[in-house]
Amino acid sequence: MILAGKAHPQDREGQELIRLWNNFAKRPELRTRLIFLRDYNMRQAEWLTQGVDVWINTPRRPWEASGTSGMKILANGGLNLSELDGWWQEAYAPDVGWALGDGKEHGDDPGVDAVEADALYRLLEEEIVPEFYDRDEDGIPSRWVRRIRESMARLAPQFSANRTVREYTEKFYLPAARDYAARIETIGDVSRGIARWKQDVSTFWPLVRFGEISVEETKECLSFSVAVYLGELSSDMVRVELYADGEAGRPSHVEAMQRQQGGSAPAGYHRYAARISPVRPALEFTPRVVPYHPLVRGPLELPNIIWQR
Ligand SMILES: *Cc1c(COP(=O)(O)O)cnc(C)c1O
Repeated sequence: MILAGKAHPQDREGQELIRLWNNFAKRPELRTRLIFLRDYNMRQAEWLTQGVDVWINTPRRPWEASGTSGMKILANGGLNLSELDGWWQEAYAPDVGWALGDGKEHGDDPGVDAVEADALYRLLEEEIVPEFYDRDEDGIPSRWVRRIRESMARLAPQFSANRTVREYTEKFYLPAARDYAARIETIGDVSRGIARWKQDVSTFWPLVRFGEISVEETKECLSFSVAVYLGELSSDMVRVELYADGEAGRPSHVEAMQRQQGGSAPAGYHRYAARISPVRPALEFTPRVVPYHPLVRGPLELPNIIWQR
C-alpha cells in the first residue's frame, strides 16, 4: 500500500491524521507492505495516478468539494469508485464506473457509514475485482477495457481543464472583452450611464421588498401575482423572476414575470404576474428581484438579489 497526501497548513485535523498514518507505517511488521511518501506534490500525483486501476473516494456527503483527483484518473486509464458527491454525482453512469451511497446527506450517522462500508466491500469483492481478473485467452480483461474506453471517451472531454477554460472564455471572457470595447467606444457615455445605474440600484436596493403574493394552481396553468416595492427605482431597472432549482437531472427554471399596467398597487408598489404551464408544483417556484440593465452582466457585475420568503 502506497500512501501520499498533504494537509492544508491550517488544517490541524488533517495534519494529525497524516502524522498517525506516518507512525502507523513505521511499524516493523508493516515495513514491507506499507509506505508513506512524504511531500505530496504534482509530480508525485502524476506518477501515482498513472499506476491506479480504481480510484476510491469515500467522502461523507456533502464534503467532496469537487473531485479533481478522480477526474485526473480518467485521462490515465483508471476507473472511479466514489460516493455520489461532487463531480461524480454528475458523471456517474453504470458503464463508466461504480457509485457508493444514495446521493443523499446523512450527517455523520455511523449506521450509514457501516452500510456504505459494506457496500464498498461488496462492490470490490463481487463486481470490481472479478471483472479486473476476468481475462480472455490473450490475457486481456475485455469488460474492464470496455469500461475504461467508455469512461475516457464520455467523461474525459467533459471533465477537463480544456473544457473549463474554453467555457469560461466563450461564456465570460470574450463577451466581457466585447462589452469593454463597446463601453470605451462611446468615450465613456455608456460607462457613465452604467455607473449611475449601479449607484442608483445600490442606494435604493435596501428598500426593495415583496408585498403580498397570490398563487393559483389549476390543471392547465400556474398563475403567480406579486406586489413588489421598488420605491425610487423605476421598473425598468429591475427584473422580477420566478425561479425553481434544477434537481434530479432537471435544469433550473427561470421565468420573467411581466409588470401589470394600472391596477391597484399601493404607492411605490408594482404588480408582476406570470402564467406558466404546470410542469412543476407551484411550491417549487420562488419569486425574486434582480437588478437589470441591458448592457450589464448580472450577477457578475452586480450580484444583488432579493428572494420572496
Ligand atoms: C489532484 C491533486 C490534489 C487534489 O486532490 P483531491 O483528491 O481532488 O482533493 C491535491 N494536490 C495535488 C498535488 C494534486 O495533484
